[in-house]
Amino acid sequence: MGKGFFQIPTAYNEPVKSYAPGTSEREEVLKQYNEYYNATIDVPLYIGSEEIRTGNTKPLSPPHEHKHIVGNYHLAEKSHVEKAIANCLESREKWANLTWEQRAAIFLKAAELIAGPYRAKINAATMMAQSKTIHQAETDAACEFIDFLRFNVEFMSQIYAEQPESDEGIWNRVEYRPLEGFVYAVTPFNFTAIAGNLPTCMAMMGNVVVWKPSDSQIFSAKVIIDVLKEAGLPDGVINVVYGDPVMITNTVLASPDFSGLHFTGSTFVFKELWKQIGNNIHHYKTYPRIVGETGGKDFILAHPTAKPAQVATAITRGAFEFQGQKCSAASRVYLPKSTADQILELVKADIASFNKPGSPADMSNFITAVIHEGSFDKLAKYIDQAKTDKNVEIIAGGGHDKSVGYFIEPTVILTKDPKYTTMCTELFGPVVTVYVYDDKDWSDTLTLIDGTSEYALTGAVLSTDRYAIDEATKALQNSAGNFYINDKPTGAVVGQQPFGGARASGTNDKAGSVQNLLRWISPRLIKETFVSPEDYRYPFLG
Ligand code: NAD
Repeated sequence: MGKGFFQIPTAYNEPVKSYAPGTSEREEVLKQYNEYYNATIDVPLYIGSEEIRTGNTKPLSPPHEHKHIVGNYHLAEKSHVEKAIANCLESREKWANLTWEQRAAIFLKAAELIAGPYRAKINAATMMAQSKTIHQAETDAACEFIDFLRFNVEFMSQIYAEQPESDEGIWNRVEYRPLEGFVYAVTPFNFTAIAGNLPTCMAMMGNVVVWKPSDSQIFSAKVIIDVLKEAGLPDGVINVVYGDPVMITNTVLASPDFSGLHFTGSTFVFKELWKQIGNNIHHYKTYPRIVGETGGKDFILAHPTAKPAQVATAITRGAFEFQGQKCSAASRVYLPKSTADQILELVKADIASFNKPGSPADMSNFITAVIHEGSFDKLAKYIDQAKTDKNVEIIAGGGHDKSVGYFIEPTVILTKDPKYTTMCTELFGPVVTVYVYDDKDWSDTLTLIDGTSEYALTGAVLSTDRYAIDEATKALQNSAGNFYINDKPTGAVVGQQPFGGARASGTNDKAGSVQNLLRWISPRLIKETFVSPEDYRYPFLG
């Protein structure tokens, strides 16, 4: 604590800009996109005060035009990862002892830089790296990241204000120190905001961080690093390395000073990391904190009373925005027989109104490319398999082409088998599978949904019958960490809908909430007695 009980500026959600034709923000972001498109950036490792160019590089290309190169990034060797750890440990004492309001100011400044001078840059970089439309980039890279920074500062101040009662003659107080050692952030490709949040929320609480972004997000990760530098984050607090994820992770987890993992990505990788940490447990100085937000197989369930147009819109937006590459994207849908045809006709009409998948630089495109060739090939395989499987029919889309970009048509699969592979497996693409249930089987369908997938991230129920909503809310309490009533299952807003799931979807530590920040601190209770006793005898001794 410094020399006052400081009140931080009240956090608020950053308003989403429209980018409608004729707006200055549209002009600015397209100008920035073209600048990036025609340049070649060179992304070094950031370790301590150094920008390290190893000379061992990989190219950066937009997924919607994979033959076009917009930059290179340098790959770390083991010695660089060790150097990153050493820099964390060197920087730790000074950073951990900086008063909290100074730390808060850095991240609040970062939020304002993104809201202002870096907005077009972070959005254009996200359009380039992850093939997001401008709306998807704006809600993620600009607004959600800004919200994470503002709200986390508010949550941090709430945590510090949480203090115990004190009896007469004593003073109890709690200080919340960062974890001993250093922490490790491993981030996914799909949200620039998550890539920014995972390392910064730990650093905000006084921790020093090794950050490994996804290879497919490095172009926009570079803007995050530029922002943090301009906001005044001291060197060595967040050290950034890329390259072979296994080598980097093995090196990090081998350090006795490793004290926490903040992971977002796929379930298999997270479970492997957890196992590795368990195997090393005797080696660590403290029990590492493990937080992971992982895969999903998110559902939409329509009750016979749901309005068809509302269900169809929830499907179209929930399944296809950002090509279904959101952990929360709707990928399995349960429709009642009485309204299924009507709903599916509306979904097909929506899909028919989309342009063919293309570049986000053409702002009339709703669908762009999937992230990389591995993802494209996996999706194409499942779609082609569905074309030949019994009990399955593709009723919309089904096409794919990777000659220019990794383009997969938005695809709707209709299945008579509620346990068909695409009802259970996370595909992470613009593919949704629909199962039609008999209206009288509503209650059984709730049991079916709960038992169909290993995941429990998001889910939505649409109905105008309050008894049905209540029944679904109870029956599906373990099936989704974020449960939506009469809405799509995507689009959580920081400060309003803290996000995370249980079962194989993660540790449910709710990104963008106090719960998450609590994982990155270790409390120390201090009891001070003002007048200490001088005789051991209690009165009962006589
Ligand atoms: P991914 O698991 O392929 O990669 C995530 C990160 O882990 C990357 O930085 C990657 O380089 C690293 N990694 C990969 N293999 C590794 C290994 N063997 N050892 C150590 N690190 C390794 O995931 P992705 O494709 O980037 O992201 C998509 C996945 O993330 C989906 O499963 C999605 O559901 C999930 N996701 C979940 C949430 C959530 O909040 N629950 C949010 C976003 C994404």
